[in-house]
Amino acid sequence: MNLILLGPPGAGKGTQAKRLEVAHGIAQVSTGDMLRAEVAAGSEIGVRAKTIMESGALVPDALIISMLAARVRQPDCARGFILDGFPRTVPQAQALDDMLGSMGIALDSVIELQVDDTALVERIAGRFTCAKCGTGYHDAFHPTRAAGVCDVCGSHDFVRRADDRRETVSARLQAYHTQTAPILPHYAGQGRLHTVDGMADMGAVADAIGAILKRLPEKARVATN
Ligand code: AMP
Repeated sequence: MNLILLGPPGAGKGTQAKRLEVAHGIAQVSTGDMLRAEVAAGSEIGVRAKTIMESGALVPDALIISMLAARVRQPDCARGFILDGFPRTVPQAQALDDMLGSMGIALDSVIELQVDDTALVERIAGRFTCAKCGTGYHDAFHPTRAAGVCDVCGSHDFVRRADDRRETVSARLQAYHTQTAPILPHYAGQGRLHTVDGMADMGAVADAIGAILKRLPEKARVATN
């Protein structure tokens, strides 16, 4: 089963992609995570991407398309994948169609998480993550049980993404509305687009996604069992 999760930053794509990864044994492919790993490694791609990411803008299509093309050919994607954060522009969506076509792979569903902009700023600006085990938290909605201590691994080290600052979030939202939202009609035209209310709680969003996947033709579902 091959899926795309679409939606603005903070809509919950990463959370839902992780759930789907566990539930269906398919790979979560987050281009944002891949780029952050390149930045941390100080690679050539990372050096090019760092300042762009910190400004809230999108990195160039050519760079991201070649990175993604290599990633979906990895063995863990053979059973299927969930694209989280890709495609983000019309040229990326077209390149993905060509790429999957040449690999003989079908895209089964594109799921859009709809969330309003005011809620997004609150969701994003409060996010932080355990530096050791990666567990995600939020100042208001999901704080650690004991202040400054990770619930899962007990670490005292936490990180906040440089681009989660309030000022940068509005640039990221603007990039979503101007560059990413235009790909919705691309997938609606293919009959693959489904929309879910991303304002609902995590469990309800997961149920709504599950209901969409249940309605997929049998072929897409058995591929993951
Ligand atoms: P994310 O973690 O998905 O919010 O991505 C963080 C940042 O990485 C974005 O604000 C962009 O600067 C960059 N990025 C991630 N995915 C893409 C993409 N598909 N196209 C262009 N830039 C991307």
